[in-house]
This record gives sequence, C-alpha cells and structure tokens, in this order.
Amino acid sequence: MDFDLPPEIQELQAKVRDFVRRELIPIEMTINHFERVEPDILRPFQEKVKALGLWQVDVPKEFGGLGLSQVAKCVIEEEVSQSKAMPYRLSALMGPPVGPILYRCNDEQKERFLKPVLRGEKRICFAQTEPDAGSDPAGMRTRAVRDGDHYVITGTKRFITGSIDADAAQVICVTDPEKGANGGISCVVVDMKAPGVKLVKAWQNMMDDPVGEIVFDGARVPIADRIGEEGEGFRLAQEWLTRARIKQAAKALGIAQRCYDMSIDYAEARTTGGIPLGERQAVQLMIADCAMEIRSLRLMIYDTAWRADQKQDIRNEAYMVKIMGLETVTRVIDRAIEIHGALGLSKKLPLEYWYRQVRSSRIADGATEVLRWVLARNLARARKPRPPKAKPNEAA
Ligand SMILES: Cc1cc2nc3c(=O)[nH]c(=O)nc-3n(C[C@H](O)[C@H](O)[C@H](O)COP(=O)(O)OP(=O)(O)OC[C@H]3O[C@@H](n4cnc5c(N)ncnc54)[C@H](O)[C@@H]3O)c2cc1C
Repeated sequence: MDFDLPPEIQELQAKVRDFVRRELIPIEMTINHFERVEPDILRPFQEKVKALGLWQVDVPKEFGGLGLSQVAKCVIEEEVSQSKAMPYRLSALMGPPVGPILYRCNDEQKERFLKPVLRGEKRICFAQTEPDAGSDPAGMRTRAVRDGDHYVITGTKRFITGSIDADAAQVICVTDPEKGANGGISCVVVDMKAPGVKLVKAWQNMMDDPVGEIVFDGARVPIADRIGEEGEGFRLAQEWLTRARIKQAAKALGIAQRCYDMSIDYAEARTTGGIPLGERQAVQLMIADCAMEIRSLRLMIYDTAWRADQKQDIRNEAYMVKIMGLETVTRVIDRAIEIHGALGLSKKLPLEYWYRQVRSSRIADGATEVLRWVLARNLARARKPRPPKAKPNEAA
C-alpha cells in the first residue's frame, strides 16, 4: 500500500502552496470578510491563478475545467485554506463555485444555467433549509404545484449562502407530499428576480457573512427549469451535500495545518521567564496532540477522496470526515489561541476569524450531532442480517 500522493498531485500541491505563500498569506489580513470582495480585488488574483494553469479546478474536463480527481481537489482545498484570504469570501479565486447539481442539467439547461455560472456571469445558490426543516430536510414544506407547463412555488427558505447576490436559486421543493423524500421532492431553478420571489432578510451572524431568507409567494417557474426527473431532487441535494462535506473537511485540515505551523513558530520565538514556550511541557503536549490529530484527519480525508474516485458509495465516510474535520480544527485553533496568548485573540492574526468560521461550519452542511445520528443509524442498518429471500412456492 502506497500512502504517497501520485507525482502529478505532488506537483500541483507544490504549485498551489507556493502561490498561497507568495500571494495570499501576505495580504490575508487586509481582506475584509464583512464586505463583498469586489471583482477588481479578485480579478488580479484570478489572472495569476489562470497563468499557473489552476483555473476551474473544480470543473470536469468536458466543461473546460481541469477534470481533477477528488484527491487532487482535496489537496488544493487544503493548501488554499491555509490563508485567511481564501476561505469563503475569495472562494471564486480558482473559478466560480458551481456545485454538482448543475452538472445534471440537460443540454438545453446547460446553456441557460451552467455555462453562465462557469463564465462567472451569473451566481446561483442552493436553497434547501426552511424555518421548520433544517436538520430534517425531509420535513420541508415549500411546495411546487403543477399548473399547465409551470410550477407554482410557495414557501420559505432560510440561511441560504450566497442568496443575497444570487441571480438564481436551486430550490429543493415538494412536488408530491404523499411520497415526500421518497420521490416527492424535486430541484427547480428559480430566477431571484421573478415575480413572487423575495429576499426578505439577511441574517447577520458570527461569520461576518450574512445568509439570506427567501420567500416564494406563488412564483411561477417553467417545468422546463426543473433539474433531473420530478422526484429526484432529494437525492441530488444529498449528492451535493456529500461533496460539500468532503470539501469542508479538507478546508478544516488546511486551517488546522496553518494553525499548527503558526503555533510551532511562535512557541520557538516567544520566551517566558527566559525559556522558549516550546520547551514548556504544557505547550509541547498541545503541539503533539495537534500533530497526531492533523495526521489522522489527513489520512481519513485522502482515503475518503480516493474511495470517491473509485466510485464507491462514500456517504458514511463523508459524514465521518465532516465530523472529524470540524472537531479537529476546533481543538487545534483553540490550542493555537492558547499558545499565542492575548495576541491569539487579536485581529492582528487570523486565528479569531477561523475560530468563528469553523464554529459555524459545524452546523452548515449538517450539524455534527445530526451527522453522528445518521451515521450510527446507517451503520446499524448495514449490520442487520437481511431476511432470507422467500422461495416462489413459499410466497404468501
Ligand atoms: C454558515 C451557514 C451556511 C448555510 N448555508 C446554507 C445553504 O446555502 N443552503 C441551505 O439550504 N442551508 C444552509 N444552511 C442551513 C444549515 O443546513 C442548517 O442550519 C442545518 O442543517 C441545521 O438546521 P437548523 O439550523 O434548522 O437547526 P435544527 O434542525 O433546529 O437543529 C438544532 C440543533 O439540534 C440538534 N439536532 C437536530 N436534530 C438532531 C438529531 N436528529 N439528532 C441529534 N441532534 C439533533 C443539532 O445540534 C442541531 O444543531 C447554512 C447554515 C449555516 C450555519
């Protein structure tokens, strides 16, 4: 068994690492995450990324992207997340974020929905959560009722990332209440400026990056704007979330690695009572714990990504890495702040920002408690022996 990354991914890793150290880390504390990162701030970085051949890292080859494996994408995510400049606000650095549902568009929809997003002309958000259906999306109430060749959509979606400046939303909604999550939920692309669609609220929160609430009040949407078959939306949303969870874990790993590196550097340089912090046993224990936890997280993430590349069913592994990733990085940042003392809490360093970010990420894309519950349920089901198949003459 070879645990080394393949040479081409190592090359990619070195290129991204060099870019992050040269271009992003030096300016990271100048990025104000509360405000939009204006296109004229982002564009020069995007041009440099393009020149390095790192554009559209998350896009399949057939749509002009690099067609990278899941392992390669995780390695890139891990590297770029080591700068505070990157997570979240500069996420369009290596190409506009698309998300897997749009790749399920039919040919005609690809022209209208997918390609404008890939060209950076349009933004699209993913709207599943509702006021009474967060951890339990199967309980969603937003209804899409057929009326001729249109759906009429009524309901509320909230805490939707990117909805404040989105041109369209991929709305996960109920088309057949009898079937619910078993074939009664669909995914429809809704124009955010259409009559009956209103962004009613921007929820301010600890991450400096507000999430929106959208009300659909009888919005008419052509049936031709549904992605996939009617009733396929719940599965498409779950596929989206599985990928999002692996990405969250790789992001957590990158942040954890940088916090660890910062802690070692600081512990070497800072002395108290004439002794470097790094020679204090209490600090050494924290650093050793970080090293072990980061190492095991990295192995778990690469293993999950590799299994995804082998087309294995990785839903359970994705739950595991999301939980492990966010819990590991939470502990690592906490220790990094401790080692840096009051400086660690200040806005001179990125630690306090990451501390807030990772706290919110423990809830986004599935709260850790909920993921544990689903994981345990799936594992128990997988262990139960299946009842023997009845022979034809034994059938009731
Ligand atoms: C930063 C951020 C960005 C987001 N972006 C989007 C987005 O783009 N699109 C979108 O659709 N949604 C988005 N969300 C919403 C997110 O998916 C939900 O917040 C999440 O699923 C939890 O739902 P809830 O907040 O309603 O909490 P609730 O469902 O009310 O749960 C509250 C808490 O109860 C516990 N809990 C709930 N159920 C169980 C259970 N079965 N077992 C054990 N414990 C349980 C958990 O600790 C949970 O945190 C985002 C959220 C955040 C924080």
